[in-house]
Parts: sequence; C-alpha cells; structure tokens
Amino acid sequence: MIRLIFTERAFVELSAHLAHSAPLEEGAFCLVHEGHGHSSRRLLVDTVLLPPDGAWEVQHEGALRPSAQWVSAVLSEAICRQAGLLFVHSHPDPRHPCAFSHIDLIALRDLGRTLAPMLDGPFAAVVAHPEGWTGALWNETDMTDIHRIWAIGRTVRWLTPLTAPLLTDLDQRQRDALGIIHDQLQRLDVAVVGCGGLGSPIAEQLVRVGTQSVLLNDVDCLDTPSNVRRVFGAAIADLDAAVSPPKVDVVGRHLQQLGFDTRIRRTHADVRSDQAFRQLLDADVVISATDTHGSRAVLNDLASAYLLPVIDVGVRVGTRGDHVLSGLVAEVRVLTASTPCLWCRKTISADVIRVENLPETDRARLRREGYVVGGDGSPVASVVALTVLGSGLAMCALIGLFADDADVAASGYWIDGLLGDGCETGPTVPVADCWCRRRIALGDAAPPPLIG
Ligand SMILES: [Zn+2]
Repeated sequence: MIRLIFTERAFVELSAHLAHSAPLEEGAFCLVHEGHGHSSRRLLVDTVLLPPDGAWEVQHEGALRPSAQWVSAVLSEAICRQAGLLFVHSHPDPRHPCAFSHIDLIALRDLGRTLAPMLDGPFAAVVAHPEGWTGALWNETDMTDIHRIWAIGRTVRWLTPLTAPLLTDLDQRQRDALGIIHDQLQRLDVAVVGCGGLGSPIAEQLVRVGTQSVLLNDVDCLDTPSNVRRVFGAAIADLDAAVSPPKVDVVGRHLQQLGFDTRIRRTHADVRSDQAFRQLLDADVVISATDTHGSRAVLNDLASAYLLPVIDVGVRVGTRGDHVLSGLVAEVRVLTASTPCLWCRKTISADVIRVENLPETDRARLRREGYVVGGDGSPVASVVALTVLGSGLAMCALIGLFADDADVAASGYWIDGLLGDGCETGPTVPVADCWCRRRIALGDAAPPPLIG
C-alpha cells in the first residue's frame, strides 16, 4: 500500500493554484518526505513549490512541461532539504481522463530517470482532475500506482476517486445512516492500541462497521481478574489458564468468532519498539486506548510527523470523599497536524514518562516519598458502562474524521455519562512553539524516540 498525504495547508495552496489557470493545465512541485511502514509507504507533503514566471516550457489545454531551468531549481531545493519531489499537474477538463495520459507517463518516466538518482527521497507525481486525484511513484524502472491520496486538516479529504461499493444486506441501514462515510470506513485499516476495557469494544465496533482491517496492539496479558468484567471477549475461563493469555489474543479470538470479513492482525509488543511502531504506520487511522504517557507520546508523533490521524480516548471515574461516585467521564482528542497535540494540551507529562521508565523498585521508593503523580501501573477504578461510553465516543470521532460538517468541530471534548454534562477541552489551536510544530510531515526524518 502506498499512501500520499497532504497537510490541509499544502492542499489548499495547491488547489487554489491549480484552479486559477483553468482551462489551461497548471502544475507545481512539492517536497516529499517519507515514512516506511512494515508493509507500506507514506509519502508526506507540507511544502508546495509554486512555479515562477517562465517556469513552463509548454502550457496549454492538453499539455504542461516544466522548463529545464525550473526543474534544476526545484531539484536543488529538494537536495538542500533532504526531501523527495512530487510533480502535481491538473487535468481541468472533465472530459479528459481522471488519470495520467500516455504523454504524461512518457514525460514522468523521463523525470523519474533524471531526478530520482539525485534525490534523498522519492519521486512521485499526481494528476488533479475534477473527479479526483490519481498518483504514481517512481520505483527505479517505472511509475507505479499510489493507492490512496488524502488531505488531512481537522477532517480527512479523500482525494482518490472511490469506486461504487458492493452493498450487502448487512450494510443497508448503516449505509443509509452514513452515506459515503460508510464506503470510506469499509476501506480503512485501523490500529487499536490498548486492548483492555476501552480498546476491546472499539475493536469490536470496527469489525461490526466493516473496516477493511483491524490491527490489535497491546503488550499486556489478561492477568488481572477485575479486567474480565470490561474486556470484550474475555471469559472467566481465561483466568484459569496456566499462563495468562495476551489481551490481543483474547480479543482477537473473539473478533474472529464474529465471522465478519474484516482482516484481524495482532501485535503483542510495545508501541515504542521499532517493529510495533512500523506496523502502526501501515494503518490509515490509529485509535489510542492506552493509558501510559510513554506510549501516548509515541502515538502523538504519528499525527504530526507522519500525518496519520490519531483518536486518543480516555476515561476516568470521578469520586469525592470516601469512594462517593461523582462522575463517569470519557474524553476524546482528535490528533492531526492541524489540531493541538497531547503536549500542546498538557495531557502527557515528561515527568510521568520518566517515572514510567524507572525500574519498579525506584518507582516504589518515589511513591513512598510522595513524588509519583502517575505511571505507577496500578489498576485504576473503572466500570464497563464508562469504558463502553468512551469506546462509542471514539467511534463517533472516527466517523467525524470523514464528515464534512465536522471540519469546524472541537478536536477535544469530554462527556460525563453520570451527570449528562459535556464540554470542549482546550487549547483549540496548536501551541506555536510546541515540539509538534517542528515535525510536520517530516516522517522518518523526525522519528519519535523508540526503545529499540
Ligand atoms: Zn503540540
């Protein structure tokens, strides 16, 4: 799978530029960085290089060719920024094919052969047509198809044309409810990190809506009896096993038994390991239902550096006094390159990550001395009604990621299931000097600190 992802900023700049010369063809170059997944590649674009005066050797309604001088200038810029290049051009006439023409492909092969050996990154091309965008990547000998093209702001713009879905009796009412979002959901590869009380009902909902594939990630085993009350797929008999089963196996077994055709994969590994991290890069969307700050810091970087949307969900039981229930709060944060990250939001803390990484003996000593504010790994109060509420909110946020009307929606909010209360959480825009702002679309040029 090859994905090409634009930031919303780059997409808006590019589409305005392409539209302004119609009916003539128009074009531009973009800098591209790359993220290598386990079995996929992500091409990432945030910088558009618009053509200066005289940049086109040929420009009319059926052809566009950049001058050698301009190609040389964009090549220097890409080498200087250690990036690859993407050539974008328009086919503004709807009667023209929504694909590269024969002449396009001859010209692109020439560009690929000339430019690719000098670049530190890939060479790719896109044609923008009124019906959608089509792309191809140079693979050392020829141009090969790009499978999915998105622009991501608060929501996702699906730029690759969608073919009509095969509707079955299973889908009718969901298609009526969601319209084209149904078709998009069914093409998604979604990763769920954390397969406990919160992640397991999320995974089951993903299978029930018919997503193409679900990757289950959790490093933990089902070794705490009180978890059985909340983990979907867990049974009392699991507690009798000689060796506690990994949560991904308990949940994965359950999902397989449902009999839907979603592909289910499991990774029993820490997301901070390179192997598990690269598997996440194969996903279209990651749902974070894990509670350690170290894992969430890694997932947080997916949204900015790799333009991979992350839906971060958490729950907490409010109590006052001596175990008197005062709230059942589920909170969702939609993380993209356009929304505040977990550092912007102060949701994660470097101090807690340091504590999480200490040996247990050191953590116990700090707890005795009263220094530990979190990350001690002890089970926190929870109840299935709350974890299911959180899982439903996460799924609604996933649907919202593809809904036009959600473009102006809050990216962070909480809902209290006990008191029927709810509110947006701030900040509403990213913090200007946050770490996330310096990493947008850099991919493997700015990987998160992993543990090996
Ligand atoms: Zn940030």
